[in-house]
Amino acid sequence: MEINDSYRHRGMRKALVRTLKGKGITQPDVLKAIGKVPRHVFFENAFLEHAYQDKAFPIGEGQTISQPYTVAFQTELLDVKPQDKVLEIGTGSGYQCCVLCEMGARVYTIEYNKVLYERTRKFLPEMGYRATFVHGDGSRGIPSYAPYDKIIVTAGAPTVPTALLDQLKPGGCLVIPVGNDRMQKMLRLTRQGEKQIKREAFDNFSFVPLLGKFGWQK
Ligand code: SAM
Repeated sequence: MEINDSYRHRGMRKALVRTLKGKGITQPDVLKAIGKVPRHVFFENAFLEHAYQDKAFPIGEGQTISQPYTVAFQTELLDVKPQDKVLEIGTGSGYQCCVLCEMGARVYTIEYNKVLYERTRKFLPEMGYRATFVHGDGSRGIPSYAPYDKIIVTAGAPTVPTALLDQLKPGGCLVIPVGNDRMQKMLRLTRQGEKQIKREAFDNFSFVPLLGKFGWQK
């Protein structure tokens, strides 16, 4: 696929990176990755001016491409290192997955919605991004590929699924928004040993619901 990434698009991306810095995102690797991923290719031409605004946007199937600030915030908490094995729950458009790939992570990403799964698993390789795409209930994780260095959940959960903590390597962390259907607190849970989990709480966000066995029932 030929990506039309013009001078104008790159300029809009630089402006987005400045906006994110202004909102407190500091990790150079995160800002660099966001400065590289062509977010406009996830948008139809008619909505181009929305592509580099710091806003979530509908992607069909009642779902959204996350706000760039949210993607940056979660990625910063995840503290991604090159070659980290990262599980993303909620593939959606694939934008977050591209950011993780740009940072050198080996990404496993799972999506519950079959239409979005089919669309994204074809689209991302066409863009040049390689990941392992899985269709299914990510609230259970993907035990067959576990353990992971990092797990990121991009939908709002009612509680922390124990199944996800069980799939973390020692020293690994899970970043997950937890709360009710309107607002969730961003949590980072770090596995410090066999049993010990360190819990940190950050800002409030508003995500679409995590469905499935350890999410909200449909
Ligand atoms: N990471 C996405 C991106 O970069 O565009 C944004 C994700 S969107 C805010 C949340 C996604 O989580 C939706 O695509 C939704 O279908 C998916 N989802 C909800 N529950 C899920 C589950 N149990 N397993 C996997 N995906 C789930």
